[in-house]
Amino acid sequence: MTTQGLTEVDEAAGPHGEVLLRATDVTKHYVLRPDGFSRRRRVLRAVDGVSLEVRAGETLGVVGESGCGKSTLGRCLVRLTELSGGRVEFDGRDISTLSSRRLRPVRPGMQLVFQDPQASLNPRRRAGDIVAEPLLIHRHGDSAAVRRRVAELFDVVGLASAHLDRYPHEFSGGQRQRIGIARALATAPKLIVADEPVSALDVSIQAQVLNLFADLQEEFALTYVFIAHDLGVVRHVSDRIAVMYLGEIVELADTEDLYGSPAHPYTEALLSAVPDLDDGTAPAAVRERVVLTGEVPSPADKPTGCTFHTRCPYARERCALERPPLVATAPGRRTACHYPLTGGPSGVR
Ligand code: SF4
Repeated sequence: MTTQGLTEVDEAAGPHGEVLLRATDVTKHYVLRPDGFSRRRRVLRAVDGVSLEVRAGETLGVVGESGCGKSTLGRCLVRLTELSGGRVEFDGRDISTLSSRRLRPVRPGMQLVFQDPQASLNPRRRAGDIVAEPLLIHRHGDSAAVRRRVAELFDVVGLASAHLDRYPHEFSGGQRQRIGIARALATAPKLIVADEPVSALDVSIQAQVLNLFADLQEEFALTYVFIAHDLGVVRHVSDRIAVMYLGEIVELADTEDLYGSPAHPYTEALLSAVPDLDDGTAPAAVRERVVLTGEVPSPADKPTGCTFHTRCPYARERCALERPPLVATAPGRRTACHYPLTGGPSGVR
């Protein structure tokens, strides 16, 4: 499914700069081997026709349940995973098909922060060496210059430079994520894709790391794609939010519009599961918990029509037959639903 009319979304991006990242009909499919249950060759559609744009200085939140393809999309956006189809442009350049040699000078400009700092940091390397690695790969200078830069980066992320020679296990979870962020910052990127960067941390530490992301964005004019399964987390850091279900974007809107009045039934269900929204700011429809029925279908066996119809409390006959395209339902908002909760030509329930 291809997103149409992206210009309208861009106008809603607010006071941000030029488009830094543009994904057009990005797909990532995996061919599964036949198993004992089926001899049929099956295709797992992890990312299925995603189009979006991110402007310089903006934060786009990407949310959805586990397995919805958001992490795979994040890796496609920075070409850590090869695309099966579609196109990714970064800083005005199509990077989808660049060879690794041609991609190399582009890489410093876009970095990924991983979910689990424990797993993403080599336990046998000192923290200073981990942060220095991208500087050495991209030839930042002699070893004294690299050491100075690493000490600066430690300071920027709130770590003591006296701890450069410590190993990852000697830091707390929050400090380890700060090391991961320092490593991502080392090459002075324009774009950081943060894949669930706080979900492995204690709730008390999450706010500190989210504040660090916000401070760094302001200081270094960074652009973020912030991936999370929790709408409560992304609300505070995102200008706009893309909601994913089974590899597709089902709603894309300005953050406050999305929280104030979700148009897609899946967004409504996700919002109703966020406990801290029950503060009087959410519409009545969202204050009541929407309990989804049915299992999440497999991305290797996606339902016909609207992929959400097997769980949607508002599904009608048409929903199982026709796939709803992602179309404008209000200025700056796009929704893939035949019967959106707000706006749209058929948004009347
Ligand atoms: Fe629900 Fe139908 Fe909208 Fe899909 S198209 S989200 S099934 S109302």
